[in-house]
Amino acid sequence: MSRTVLVTGGNKGIGRACAERFAADGHRVIVTGRDEAALAAVVAANPGVEPLAFDVTDEAAWAGLDVDIDILVANAGIAESAPVQKTTLEQWRRIQEVNVTGVFLGVRRVLPGMRERQWGRIVAVASAASHHGVRYASAYAASKHAVLGLGRSVAAEVAGTAVTANCVCPGYVKTQMTERSVERVASVTGRGQEQARAAIEGMQPLGRLVEPEEVADAVAYLAGERAAAVNGQSIILDGGGVQQ
Ligand code: NDP
Repeated sequence: MSRTVLVTGGNKGIGRACAERFAADGHRVIVTGRDEAALAAVVAANPGVEPLAFDVTDEAAWAGLDVDIDILVANAGIAESAPVQKTTLEQWRRIQEVNVTGVFLGVRRVLPGMRERQWGRIVAVASAASHHGVRYASAYAASKHAVLGLGRSVAAEVAGTAVTANCVCPGYVKTQMTERSVERVASVTGRGQEQARAAIEGMQPLGRLVEPEEVADAVAYLAGERAAAVNGQSIILDGGGVQQ
């Protein structure tokens, strides 16, 4: 059955892979993001995919969304790193605002319609950092723990309906976000980019970066008709580093 899917941050990285997967599966797909050139690039490569430029932290933009969404992929997120004692309040707030409030606003916008139409799937792209602390990324790890807590709480509220809420929790994925981490590690440690990349790859048991399409597969499963019994769960994609 064809569903209407909204992928936040669907113009890049994991979100784009999810959008392309849902489009290939025959669904109506709406991608959001702030970078309009990146939105246009996704649409050009995937005719039929619809762009919608907005910031996930903008409550009024969510209120203006006038489409019935069956599947929400709450993927948009940012990462910044700093030791906790050097993390500024502004940095802390920015990360929580996008990574947590952005997901909350999306869920709050789409959930009433899902309940009314008696079908819905919410999949949040959290992180392996939802399950463990991360040195020099306390604001990010805290935000991703919060997303997991939000997802589980929504799941508890919708239990017994035909709506589900779940999280995917990837380790390091091959996207621009990880590329920026590689650059940061290289500049802080004085190592070359290749060495920094190898260090990051070696941090997860998988021994390589996760492909965005591997995350999209997990998202597509959770969003599928056959995943009705799966609610309040998180699928960790890091090759076995975190076990729950
Ligand atoms: P990218 O940096 O490649 O993409 C991030 C996406 O989020 C972009 O599409 C960006 O769009 C969007 N975004 C960021 N801020 C906002 C905002 N305020 N409003 C709307 N859209 C926004 O990162 P990834 O694809 O790697 O990350 C996607 C998700 O996966 C994030 O939540 C991230 O935390 C999570 N994740 C990533 C991992 C990794 O190793 N890469 C590992 C685990 C989880 P635009 O720039 O147009 O605003």
